[in-house]
Amino acid sequence: MLRIVEGVVVAGEYTSVLEQNVAAMHVQYEALLGEGCGWSLRSLFSTPDCDIADYCRDFAPNRFGLQACERVEQFCRVHGIWLEAGGAHYNSMTPYLHPGAVSAERMLIIGVYNAILFWLNDTVGREKFAHLSAAEQQQAADAVRRLSRVLETRCAPADPLPVETATVELLSMLSQRADPHWLAEFAASTIEHLQPAIRDQNARARGHLLSVADYIDLRAFVSGMYPAIALCEFGSDTYLAWDRITAAGLAGDLHTLRVLTAQIGALMNDVFSFEKECIVDRADFNLIPVWLLNNPGSTLAEAVEAAAAIVRDRLTRFRRIHARMTGRTAQLTDTDLARAVAVHLEDLLGCVQATWVWQITTLRYKGVSIFVESRLDERASVPESYSMR
Ligand SMILES: [Mg+2]
Repeated sequence: MLRIVEGVVVAGEYTSVLEQNVAAMHVQYEALLGEGCGWSLRSLFSTPDCDIADYCRDFAPNRFGLQACERVEQFCRVHGIWLEAGGAHYNSMTPYLHPGAVSAERMLIIGVYNAILFWLNDTVGREKFAHLSAAEQQQAADAVRRLSRVLETRCAPADPLPVETATVELLSMLSQRADPHWLAEFAASTIEHLQPAIRDQNARARGHLLSVADYIDLRAFVSGMYPAIALCEFGSDTYLAWDRITAAGLAGDLHTLRVLTAQIGALMNDVFSFEKECIVDRADFNLIPVWLLNNPGSTLAEAVEAAAAIVRDRLTRFRRIHARMTGRTAQLTDTDLARAVAVHLEDLLGCVQATWVWQITTLRYKGVSIFVESRLDERASVPESYSMR
C-alpha cells in the first residue's frame, strides 16, 4: 500500500510500488505497439472548434533559419560542443521557436544559446543523469554550478570548460546588443532553468512523487521555455516595459499568456518525447507517467489521453486570452506600448505554433511509435511550407 502524508508518497515504501507501476506501463506500451494501436497527435491536441493543424497552417520558420543553423553548427564545432548524434535535429528548433527574429545575427545568437542548452540536455540532462556514474553526476553538478557563475559574472574561470568558453562568448554577443536590464533577468532565468534541468528528476531520485500540478509548475522551469520566451524580446529587439503594461491593466493577462506558452511548450513536448524519454531512457519525469502514477489503477492509454487533455485545455485558454489581449492592445492610446505588446503577442503565438510544427517536422522524435505523426514514414505528410529555407 502507498502511504501518503500531505500529498507526498513516502519514499522506500513507495519505491517498489512505483517500480511495479512503471514496469506495468512498459508492458502496456509494448502491447499497444504490438497490436498496432495508437493515437493521432493531431486528434489528441484538437478541440471541436480548433484543429491544431489548421491553427498552425500559416506558420513558417524564420527566414534566416538555414543560414543561422549553419553558423550555429560552425560555432559549436569551434568550441567542441557539437553533438554528431542529434545536433542537426535539435539545432533546427531555433528558427521554429523564433520565427519573428529580425536579423540573421540575432537568429545566430539565439541558436548558439539553444545549442548550449541542448548540448547540456543531451549529455547530462535529466533523462541522461540517472545513467551517469557517481563521478560523472558530480561533474555534471559542478558544471551547472560553474556555468551559473559564468552567467552571473559573465567571465570565464581560469580553467574554462569548452561550454564555459562558448557561454562567455554568447554573453559578450548578447551584451553588445541587448537591453541591459533584460539581459540581467535573462541570465537569472537561465540559472533558474539549469538548476532543476541538470539533475535526476525521476521519482526514485527525488524520493517522492510530484502531484500533477506541482509537476506542471516544475516542468515549465525545466523545459527552458521561460528563457526562450524572453529571447523573443531579444529576437524582435522590442523589450516589454512591465510598469507601463501594468498601468495599462494588461500585466495579469500577459503574464498568464507567457505561463501558458511555457506550459504548452513543455507539456506538448512531453507527449512527443514520451517514447524517447520514458521508454528508451526509462525516465518518469514526464506528464504521462506522472499522471499515471498519480492515478493508481489507471492504464497507459488513459494516461496518454489525460495528458493530451491537459495540453488541449491550455491551448484553449491560450487562444481565448490571446484574442482578448489582441483586442485590448489595439485600443491602447500609447502607440509605442501597443506596438511592443502586439509584437510580443505575435511572438507568443509563434512559440505555440512552433511547438506543434517543429515537433512534427524534426527527426528528433521519429521512430517506432504509438503516435501516428511520430512514425518515420509520416514525414511525407508535413506541409512543404514548414521546411526551413
Ligand atoms: Mg522532452
